Amino acid sequence: MKKIYLGLGSNLGDKKKNLDEALGRLQKQVKLLKLSSYYRTEPVGYKDQDWFLNLVAEGATELSPEALLAFCQGIERDMKRIKTVRFGPRVIDVDILLYEGFSSSEPELTVPHPRMKERAFVMAPLAEIAPNLLLDGQTASEIAAKLRGERVELAEGLAYEPDQRDFA
Ligand code: ADP
Ligand code: MG
Repeated sequence: MKKIYLGLGSNLGDKKKNLDEALGRLQKQVKLLKLSSYYRTEPVGYKDQDWFLNLVAEGATELSPEALLAFCQGIERDMKRIKTVRFGPRVIDVDILLYEGFSSSEPELTVPHPRMKERAFVMAPLAEIAPNLLLDGQTASEIAAKLRGERVELAEGLAYEPDQRDFA
């Protein structure tokens, strides 16, 4: 089993339900070890869209990095992610942030995720569940604390509610 970190986001429809459904589907191939809180986050780049709900999950998987990417993209496809503009609205986005012992600079699969350290919507939830995780010599908390720009707010009162139908 390899330890992984995934970043999930949604800004269309019932965002909380979309994140929970994606988490349920992920569990067919990923053992979830830790979940961050849910965060309401201001869109980055393309501003004319609704705020996102984001979270980060720590997990363990037997899948290879390539198989994990295909699995995550299958979840996005099955949940009918509608691709309009780059960085635009989406039902669900599942990104591989880190994969234990693996790095790659291929455009189809860049790991560690190339933009994660600049994105508060990734670093705030990551710092919550893995504050001492080292990224290029800095801890996740240190990186998160220095980020300015897009707003990221803890979405209080939201907790993961597994939909039991997903585990039949
Ligand atoms: P983004 O997540 O950057 O907003 P997309 O989800 O549309 O954009 O992803 C676009 C492409 O990014 C995908 O076709 C995928 O192959 C590629 N990609 C590269 N590295 C990763 C990664 N670490 N996790 C997920 N997708 C990745
Ligand atoms: Mg993505």
